[in-house]
Amino acid sequence: MRILLLGANGQLGRSFIEDGGLAARGELVVASRDGVLAAGGRGEIADMSVPESLPALLDRLRPDVIVNAAAYTSVDRAEQEEALATRVNGEAVGVLGQWAAAQGALVIHYSTDYVFDGRQAQPYAVDAPTGPLGAYGRSKLVGEQALHGSGADHLTFRTAWVYAAHGHNFLRTMLRLGAERDELRVVADQHGAPTDTMLIVRGTLAALDRWLQSDGMQRHALAGTHHLVASGATTWHGFASAIFGEAVALDLLARSPRVVAITSAEFPTPAVRPAWSLLDNAGFRQRFGFAPADWQHGLHDVMRRLVTSNH
Ligand code: NDP
Repeated sequence: MRILLLGANGQLGRSFIEDGGLAARGELVVASRDGVLAAGGRGEIADMSVPESLPALLDRLRPDVIVNAAAYTSVDRAEQEEALATRVNGEAVGVLGQWAAAQGALVIHYSTDYVFDGRQAQPYAVDAPTGPLGAYGRSKLVGEQALHGSGADHLTFRTAWVYAAHGHNFLRTMLRLGAERDELRVVADQHGAPTDTMLIVRGTLAALDRWLQSDGMQRHALAGTHHLVASGATTWHGFASAIFGEAVALDLLARSPRVVAITSAEFPTPAVRPAWSLLDNAGFRQRFGFAPADWQHGLHDVMRRLVTSNH
């Protein structure tokens, strides 16, 4: 089995490579936008902003499974670059789906809580009506629909509030600012479940294993969209406070800054974020036998990784 990993240098892509679980399951080929790998060395070039370039690459590599961890993820910049975001997150995903449908390959793809408007007050079910508030969410919804419409075997995993010990994310920003400032003002009226990339990697591998063990009828029941997020709930303010609690306990920071709760209105951004980002992940365990742990577990693991990498 040949597995193609797209977006090898992103938070999730790097975690897949570090974990080694994909490479243990087949011949792993990795690709990035320019072929340069953050982990060192070179991989294939797969520029998702040029969707028409992808079929030739796929024809040459002939993957049985495509894991698409590449995405345009600049939520605020997308407001100015919606066409580009839609090419990467929408059209290119459709092209992967068309190729996979024709060749009988499986596409594993990731989407976001931002496809919802955040106006409800209970976790979103997989089939809840979508209604993105901004360009990034719209572009990701185009991708979901294009993949579904392609007729390819696919697993689309919506996730949220993604972070890791590496890459650009809220946790790393907080640790940097927390070391510089006595006080941080953090939004306390957006609710979600911070999800570490290793949870996404493990959930994906569990789902892939279940897929590979299944026959056609069973696969039909597994295919489609699922919610792969950590369990539990907090706010960005709650997440920041927990980060600093762990950082002080693990001696990563000498002292915690004061974390002041503010409203989204006090921290305006070009893109409006949903107030409610919680996704109902109960179906994931039922279908794939993997129970997403509470977000605090992932935080603890990531902080311990940071301590190890600091020494
Ligand atoms: P990152 O932003 O860390 O990584 C995305 C990767 O995609 C980067 O390596 C980037 O390349 C690559 N990429 C961007 N544009 C292109 C392009 N034109 N061609 C090829 N590669 C490109 O994202 P995450 O790992 O956090 O996200 C993984 C998935 O989870 C995505 O589908 C995302 O939409 C989804 N998600 C993420 C959330 C989050 O909070 N981050 C929340 C909810 C869902 P380069 O390194 O060159 O910039």
